[in-house]
Amino acid sequence: MKLIDIGINLMHRSFDKDRHLIVQAAGEAGVSPLIITGTNERGSLEALSYAAKYPGKLYATAGVHPHDAKTCGPATPRKLKDLARHECAVAIGECGLDYNRDFSPRDTQREWFIKQLELAAELAMPVFLHERDAFEDFFAILKERRAGIKNAVVHCFTGSEKELDAYLGLGCFIGITGWICDERRGRHLAGLVKRIPADRLMIETDAPFLMPRDLEDGGGKSGRNEPKYLTHIAEALARHLEKDVKVLAEETYTNSRLFFGIE
Ligand SMILES: [Zn+2]
Repeated sequence: MKLIDIGINLMHRSFDKDRHLIVQAAGEAGVSPLIITGTNERGSLEALSYAAKYPGKLYATAGVHPHDAKTCGPATPRKLKDLARHECAVAIGECGLDYNRDFSPRDTQREWFIKQLELAAELAMPVFLHERDAFEDFFAILKERRAGIKNAVVHCFTGSEKELDAYLGLGCFIGITGWICDERRGRHLAGLVKRIPADRLMIETDAPFLMPRDLEDGGGKSGRNEPKYLTHIAEALARHLEKDVKVLAEETYTNSRLFFGIE
């Protein structure tokens, strides 16, 4: 079974001591390539530089997370453009709106979300999107610019049926994480995943975050999620879809490969 983890925060400090082992263990579990999530200018540069050491195994996105929107300045568009042209860059993002934490002022979040959508349109690159507790503003901004954008994935989707249908209506792909493995928090999501067409679904760990809850006592003593656990997420998702996990693996692999333009 081959899987692609479309969202892994591999440059997170919790991986500083054993990053190469994480990549190796993922590969041994059949999880390869990995798409490293870039979350700010510096982090995207680090992710792309690291990915370049593993040709064909690691790729990265180039962008600024809404939490980091406040760090952007006049030089940001030019820097992001340079990063996006890196040979390992496969998408713009993660970008979007996060009104749950509000680590950046909301108008600043909106400004840099729009700028990154415009950059993706200009460079004809897909976008890797983050939305939390900000659906209305996020959807309005995306809808207005969607026609100019090649492809979009709403990563770590945990929203409502209405929100899911709205994203699908805009032709977005949907990224599902280990949230689906949580019997309590993930219950509403388990009831929604069948609405996602097979050719719009992708999977991700969002590691080191979102450790699958049903693994917490077993594999993940530290609570640190890893890309190798994507096999577990695929199995849980396949159960909810009432589908053979091998079929799900093939479908999501193909979707991810085509979406990010990788071999
Ligand atoms: Zn995110």
